[in-house]
Amino acid sequence: MSSEPNLLDDIKEHVCTCSAGLSFTPDIEAFLKMPMRELFVALPIHMDNGSVRVFKGFRVQYNEALGPTKGGIRFHPDETIETIRALAAIMTWKCALHKLPLGGAKGGVVCNPKELSHRELERLSRAYIRGVYQVIGPDRDVPAPDVYTNPQVMAWMMDEYSKLAGKNVFGVITGKPTSLGGSAGRYDATARGGWYAIKEAAGKMGLDLKGATVAVQGFGNVGYHAAYIAKKHFGCRVVAVSDSKGGVYAEEGLDPEDVSGHKISSGSVLGYPGARNITNEELLELGVDILIPAALENVITTENAGRVTPRILAELANGPTAREADPILYTNEVHVIPDILCNGGGVIVSYFEMVQNQYSMQWDEAEVQKRLEKKMKEAYHSVFDFAEMNNTGMRQAAYTLAVSRVVEAMQLRGWI
Ligand code: NAD
Repeated sequence: MSSEPNLLDDIKEHVCTCSAGLSFTPDIEAFLKMPMRELFVALPIHMDNGSVRVFKGFRVQYNEALGPTKGGIRFHPDETIETIRALAAIMTWKCALHKLPLGGAKGGVVCNPKELSHRELERLSRAYIRGVYQVIGPDRDVPAPDVYTNPQVMAWMMDEYSKLAGKNVFGVITGKPTSLGGSAGRYDATARGGWYAIKEAAGKMGLDLKGATVAVQGFGNVGYHAAYIAKKHFGCRVVAVSDSKGGVYAEEGLDPEDVSGHKISSGSVLGYPGARNITNEELLELGVDILIPAALENVITTENAGRVTPRILAELANGPTAREADPILYTNEVHVIPDILCNGGGVIVSYFEMVQNQYSMQWDEAEVQKRLEKKMKEAYHSVFDFAEMNNTGMRQAAYTLAVSRVVEAMQLRGWI
């Protein structure tokens, strides 16, 4: 048993458990534990000072049995192929669980975008697309933004692909600016989708959301919108939020918009007037009604899981709970909405963007939200019902449903 939780190992273990439950042959299990395709690219970039730097990039297409692969591109100085592989696997199970006609992928470039000028970032974004051009496309693999990439980067990437293809190919990438075929409602889709699932969970548990206490770890794109929606749309009391530097707690509740203003002006949520500073570890152990990890992987481990006791744990981050911590949460009757279920709103609306691009349509935000709510509700209830019927945890139920759909597709295609 490793002491350091490892995302890829955890994912392989989930597959093993599904495989045992579903009686897959060892060959099927081995296939599910490896990516179908990986591409490494060297990206030479002319820097503003006249020098040339070579960046390393990769794209992992984990499994395409259900359709073209889909997954974000990270620009991060500590990026590794192992993390990208794990995240590509997660995308595969997430798309399958939400019944999207898509496989899973992920990409990355080892770089620190904060140290690049605007033009250097543009050159790197375009070089990445030239590097992976042969393996992506609307019918092959459709990237999207992820850590440290954004709609502007997607616009450059779409433009570069279109230049190489000799025509406009908006559908090659999602998360674009809305003026270039991006979808309305993408900006808060992950958090909003998560809340649609939380609403269903609260209904099952008889938890009144009005006045329910909420703590959110991570105050970036997902965490901020999760806190905002909690207060604005459900009347919850957001008692704590945090970022990489630490968190703030106020028993009477925080105003997420105001905290965001404080973070923009001071660089952190810490020191927000009228609130008490707390650590990220303390935030997880507050015993709130709804705990939302929305930052990093492996923040709930065997070490702290016994003290993490919300009624609902809504995993908006990818992989926030180490696999070995899961049984502890289960024993303590924490209702876990696992990551592949809870944060599926992002890829669902990305899929909506692909559909809109294909038909040259632009749905309004209300239309996007209505369709998102339907998909999240369906997925939540399918996982909940499966867990009840099989007397298993929500995570195991989600993985089993997802993995069995991928295997069925591989069998029907005659691959296995
Ligand atoms: P982001 O970069 O916008 O925000 C991340 C936040 O986490 C920031 O506030 C940062 O300060 C904080 N953080 C960093 N290190 C931390 C630490 N050690 N402790 C506490 N907080 C820390 O990223 P995001 O897009 O909001 O993504 C957050 C999580 O949600 C990631 O796990 C990501 O994979 C997952 N996710 C995002 C999307 C999406 O649509 N953006 C979709 C699915 C899953």
